[in-house]
Amino acid sequence: MTSDGRPTTVDDAGEAAKPPKTSGRRAQTRALVLPETMTVQYLAEVLNQNPIDVIKQLMRNGIMASMNQVVEYKVATLVSTALGVRTSMAEGPTAAKGPAAKKGAASKKAATKEDEADLVLRPPVITVLGHVDHGKTSLLDSIKNSNVAEGEIGGITQHIGAYQVESDGHPITFLDTPGHAAFTAIRARGARVTDIAVLVVAADDGIMPQTLEAINHAKAAEVPIVVAINKMDLPGADPERVKRQLSEQELLVEDWGGDVISVDVSAKTGAGIDTLLENLLLVAEIAELKANPNKRAEGVVIEAKLDRKRGPSTTVLVQDGTLKIGDFIVAGAAFGRVKAMANDKGEPVQSVLPGYPAEVLGFGSVPEAGDQLIVTTSEREGRAMAEASGKTRSVQSGQGRALTLEEVVNQVDADEIKELNLVIKADVQGSVEAVRGALERMVDEDAIVRILHSASGAVTESDILLASASKAIVISFSIGSEPSAERLADRMGVEIRHYDIIYQLIDDVEKALHGMLDPVYTEIIVGRAEVREVFEGRRGTQIAGCRVSEGRMVRNGDVRVMRDGAVVEDSIITSLRHFREEVNEMNAGTECGIILQGFNDFQEGDILEVHRQERGRR
Ligand code: GDP
Repeated sequence: MTSDGRPTTVDDAGEAAKPPKTSGRRAQTRALVLPETMTVQYLAEVLNQNPIDVIKQLMRNGIMASMNQVVEYKVATLVSTALGVRTSMAEGPTAAKGPAAKKGAASKKAATKEDEADLVLRPPVITVLGHVDHGKTSLLDSIKNSNVAEGEIGGITQHIGAYQVESDGHPITFLDTPGHAAFTAIRARGARVTDIAVLVVAADDGIMPQTLEAINHAKAAEVPIVVAINKMDLPGADPERVKRQLSEQELLVEDWGGDVISVDVSAKTGAGIDTLLENLLLVAEIAELKANPNKRAEGVVIEAKLDRKRGPSTTVLVQDGTLKIGDFIVAGAAFGRVKAMANDKGEPVQSVLPGYPAEVLGFGSVPEAGDQLIVTTSEREGRAMAEASGKTRSVQSGQGRALTLEEVVNQVDADEIKELNLVIKADVQGSVEAVRGALERMVDEDAIVRILHSASGAVTESDILLASASKAIVISFSIGSEPSAERLADRMGVEIRHYDIIYQLIDDVEKALHGMLDPVYTEIIVGRAEVREVFEGRRGTQIAGCRVSEGRMVRNGDVRVMRDGAVVEDSIITSLRHFREEVNEMNAGTECGIILQGFNDFQEGDILEVHRQERGRR
């Protein structure tokens, strides 16, 4: 490491070395040493890539990061691996080489300390979950009203998708869209929003199928649950039965010797609401929810709509940093600059702190709920990120979010995952239990099976969302899927494996756990182009003047160079030009200039073949 924390190569013996420039897959023989954390810009520099391309590569892996954002080594490897660059992390003997390394380590420590000093407590963000008609909406309304000063009731309430109340002077943020479908949909987009889930159970009805789903969705998200036993005003209210039923779901409430808080409430009369709020603050305090308001904002889009007069209006929950008027913002495929902001009471605000929601005006188009919001350094950067995100979404939405069983196998093999997450659906409850029982008995030293949810009935959209959010595979036994669920699974890249024979199911899962299932990949040829002319570019780089003969050429696409029917090189298209302009794609029948990474031996008549792998489905 050099004094400014730049990485050097492994065989650098402590002398000041410049960041190595990588020049392609073949040329890369030494591993590039990267620090534990680095900015995206820095990563681009050492990989000799345009930062925007690095940002796009991160997006393909479901990570939104701006140029100045700090990423961890593991994240950086997603980019380097895609470029065929071997890396290792600066640690142990390498990092210790030379006095410069020590300096780097010291400054890193100082930076961490400084960050810690910047951290302040932020309000908790709460989502209300539970079975239909158990009173989720009523509870949210009751909480909102309990906090409105006399005289304001019945006044104009803003519906921006989130609101805040105070308990004992401490703010608490509630998301206004109850239910686990919304909760998991946002999580499936890669955002973690909720700090605490309030599970509403009607005291007269007890635990119902959607209560179970809600419990499993909250558990999969590893979000603490606070139970609100509602409708206590009804004569048939039986809170003890609810508590017993909860215990059967491994949710032991305090009365039963557990640590799950449960509060008796009535959304109708308002009884118990104050106690519920106090307990939410208690759980928040234990969770020590902190954020750093002294940096650029990061957040998530909760709701977005097109207002005919004001343009795109977006409710954003700020999760870290402070969002200010004038900030350049990007969320999914939308970008812009903050023109105006209002809090949940409709009052204009200049800045928004972590844990607070706000309505934001200034996006050029409407982002989607669940899109992560970040502040960029310039409009140009925002535009490039938005464009890249739009592309990624249309071409391969869901990539990087879900896994197939084959991919799990590879990752178990590579020691990257230790858990195989499953959602199980079967025709009848008896089969659910049989499948569950068989899978739970499976133990392997490499990985364990974790069943996120199991129920009887067809595979639903909610199952797909849960699987997507938790990188799980859906196993359906002797039952089909709802057509809408199949479509969603396709869109989100979630694998549904159908089985009719239990031994086959067990066999496949067992093989997966042992890292032995044979992967099924099909190669898709995206397009072919013929090299018509070879031009010499700068610094020995060759530009192939091509004509696209079929399909399309894609910038950053994997490509092989074919000569006389044999592969002479595997590489990546680093530059794709139409005349002088850099473009993302060129279709059949057009002519373009192509530069490949690390390959400068083109011959006229070479065929460039862009390809990608598509995983097979059962
Ligand atoms: P959601 O589907 O979970 O959002 O349930 P709602 O909030 O729409 O409530 C369903 C029904 O239960 C409505 O008719 C409410 O008026 C009623 N309800 C909700 N909370 C209470 C309560 O605490 N007591 C009584 N008696 N009724 C309630």
